[in-house]
Amino acid sequence: MSEFSVIAPRSGCAFALRAGEELTVIDAEGGQVADLLAVNAADTREMLSSGRTLDYAERIYLTTGDRLYSNRSNVMLEIVEDTVGRHDFLLTPCSEATFRLCYDNEPSHQGCHGNLAHALAPYGVEPDQIPVAFNCFMNVPVDGVTGSFKVLPPLSQAGDRIVFRATMDLIIGLTACSAPASNGGTFKPIHYRIDADATARS
Ligand SMILES: [Zn+2]
Repeated sequence: MSEFSVIAPRSGCAFALRAGEELTVIDAEGGQVADLLAVNAADTREMLSSGRTLDYAERIYLTTGDRLYSNRSNVMLEIVEDTVGRHDFLLTPCSEATFRLCYDNEPSHQGCHGNLAHALAPYGVEPDQIPVAFNCFMNVPVDGVTGSFKVLPPLSQAGDRIVFRATMDLIIGLTACSAPASNGGTFKPIHYRIDADATARS
């Protein structure tokens, strides 16, 4: 088992994840969201697509066995383990505008969007390209009749995790989310680990 890497509260990072490798995202302290973005390492115009993924899954809550598709309808990641069962794939990464429009009494912050843009800039990804990210551990229950939703604290407890297997060579952007409502009002780190293949998973 490889060592964990740590994403500090309200920050983000980017790294390569090759086809066949597994990425484990851990909510180390509990109640913390991590926005995950995937980009084709060979062509950064191909990215994770919420719309295509939810269309093919015919569900909005994804878990073990579900596949995450790109804007070109290629499978980028498969969820191979999930100890929580509640994640969000509807809402865009929090941003400076999120704080301006949704939070009256919070100091501004660049949010996950700014953190992803900064981390992915060296790979040639422009801020305006950043789509809806897969929001690990984010808890957004939707009313089945009206479609209204709430952003509630995550259901994840300390040590909960979700594991993704890459099906193409990817650049991954990953954050420890900065939005108060998504994280129960406190900002915690996110841990992650890359394993060479499925046999390395414990
Ligand atoms: Zn965020």
